[in-house]
Amino acid sequence: MRVSRLMLVTLRDDPAEAEISSHKLLLRAGYIRRVASGIYAYLPLLWRVLQKISAIVREEMNATGALETLLPQLQPADLWERSGRWAGYTAGEGIMFHLDDRQGRQLGLGPTHEEVITALAADLLRSYRQLPVTLYQIQTKFRDEIRPRFGLMRGREFIMKDAYSFHGDEASLQETYAAMDGAYRRIFRRCGLRAVAVEADSGAIGGSASQEFMVTAEAGEDLILASPDGRYAANQERAVSLPPDPVPLPAGPATALDTPAKSSIEALATAHGLDPSQIVKVLLLLARFADGSVQPLLVSLRGDQQLNEVKLSNAVAARAPQGAGAVLEIAPLDAERCRDWRLDLDLSAIPFGYIGPDLSDGLLTHAGSGLRRSFLRLADPTAAELPRFVCGANAPDRHRLGVSWSDLGETPQVLDLRAAQPGDRCRHDPSQILEAARGIEVGHIFQLGRKYSDALEATFTNDAGFDEALWMGCYGIGVSRLAQAAVEQNHDGDGMRWPVAIAPFEVIVVIANVQESSQRELAEQLYGQLLDAGIEVLLDDRSERAGVKFKDADLIGIPWRLVVGRGAATGQVELVRRADGEKADRPAEAVVAELVERIRQERSGVEFGV
Ligand code: ATP
Ligand code: MG
Repeated sequence: MRVSRLMLVTLRDDPAEAEISSHKLLLRAGYIRRVASGIYAYLPLLWRVLQKISAIVREEMNATGALETLLPQLQPADLWERSGRWAGYTAGEGIMFHLDDRQGRQLGLGPTHEEVITALAADLLRSYRQLPVTLYQIQTKFRDEIRPRFGLMRGREFIMKDAYSFHGDEASLQETYAAMDGAYRRIFRRCGLRAVAVEADSGAIGGSASQEFMVTAEAGEDLILASPDGRYAANQERAVSLPPDPVPLPAGPATALDTPAKSSIEALATAHGLDPSQIVKVLLLLARFADGSVQPLLVSLRGDQQLNEVKLSNAVAARAPQGAGAVLEIAPLDAERCRDWRLDLDLSAIPFGYIGPDLSDGLLTHAGSGLRRSFLRLADPTAAELPRFVCGANAPDRHRLGVSWSDLGETPQVLDLRAAQPGDRCRHDPSQILEAARGIEVGHIFQLGRKYSDALEATFTNDAGFDEALWMGCYGIGVSRLAQAAVEQNHDGDGMRWPVAIAPFEVIVVIANVQESSQRELAEQLYGQLLDAGIEVLLDDRSERAGVKFKDADLIGIPWRLVVGRGAATGQVELVRRADGEKADRPAEAVVAELVERIRQERSGVEFGV
């Protein structure tokens, strides 16, 4: 391909719309253009990258025995009603684009395909003899993200590979899950990326075990907590650890404490010589469900600990009243929320800042419709295990000192709700201290179990002749996000540094001065030889200054640059490697063979994980 024919438009300055390096570079180097918020045109250079990534993904999926398919993006609402996800995905912070057709039937634009594929499985998979089976597709997905940002990292329209497996029993599901884990590791390695597998939260998809693959990069949105011995790594949303030991409270009877204007843990601790780990803090929150009902929550945590909102949301979902549907939102109980959600609650009766775990349900008795009349009371073990502690007295300007849970009556339900932090000791080995790293989630694999097959009645006949629900797994890779993650992990001040395996072209031949016929002729000759040798090569034949072309070559990040300049007259060319800037003069007659050999090695090197 000739650069003069490539419609290449590069930008010298950073576009204002971009914050992180990879997004700036994709725009500047002419790989993408923004069409609307979270919606991008993939220009020819990026399309080549996406096709290369897709080819690697396809090869590895096929190698596991998975079958490629293509499912509709327009999905009928009733399938999502049957799985119980329609309301959660369309109302409130739901991310599914949805519309009515001319007959007034509701449709959604596929953010994911569990419903469609499970309905197909119900239809097509009848016998244990057909199992296990895995289907995958590479396709555009639509998600009306709350905060689309960072270019292709969080788009509203993006390319995903999604796969779904069906099994007769859990052991078979675990086998395929392990095969996918292996395939994912090979895919990321072959793409030339450094990726780590971490334990993950299963989120709205549901199911039991799940693992994410993170490309490590400073600009990553996810926080990874890992042990230095390599035995534990988890997304912070999911991570567990040992909390620091609390400072014991000196013995003594339970007493009241006057604490005017000490409504924060910090103010209370400082004013009364307490350690935050001696205080139980109580968060007053509201959870709104898909059916519109609202559950008030009282969450107790040790004063030095932070709430993990994902854990809380999962805990509330698991305790949702029958028919309430998904948890749409959890938010602090305040005037704004009461107004927005039309809750008729007398806030003046609530002693904010002085609440104890035993705050009375009586406060809720006059509450408006939709609000449940009793608190869901939850406590993290850090709070529940304190023998004696300080907490609010449920009256303004007053706390209680030295109380125990038995003094407070009913004990809340105890479960892990705290956010693990870097610096915490690990559960598997307390001498290991959790370290933080940032990552970009490029893949996520789940053992779904029977959640969707139960809901959509996808059953098969087992070898004993009985009908059973299918076991399922699902496996996603963000193909377009992966392309940008590769840039985030591989760039420098001059531009991108594509790994050879997914670079749009492997070599760029630059004619330093197109007015010089000796340079033009030699470059054309080398270009032809490289093409004949099966190398993906660009020829920069533009009548630009040499400096401009070198800058562009660095910016678009082609792994090898062959410069045909003044030396052409004596048959000399310059070979430059983008990754480390290594430069060397070479006789033109030998350079093609050398390049072919080095690229062949690089291609197979990543394939075999060298
Ligand atoms: P995130 O937590 O980043 O919102 P997710 O957990 O909702 O992602 P999955 O449902 O697991 O995403 O989707 C599979 C993969 O698709 C993700 O691992 C990610 O690589 C990619 N992906 C998800 N959402 C987007 C998006 N808005 N833009 C680009 N890629 C995405
Ligand atoms: Mg995910």
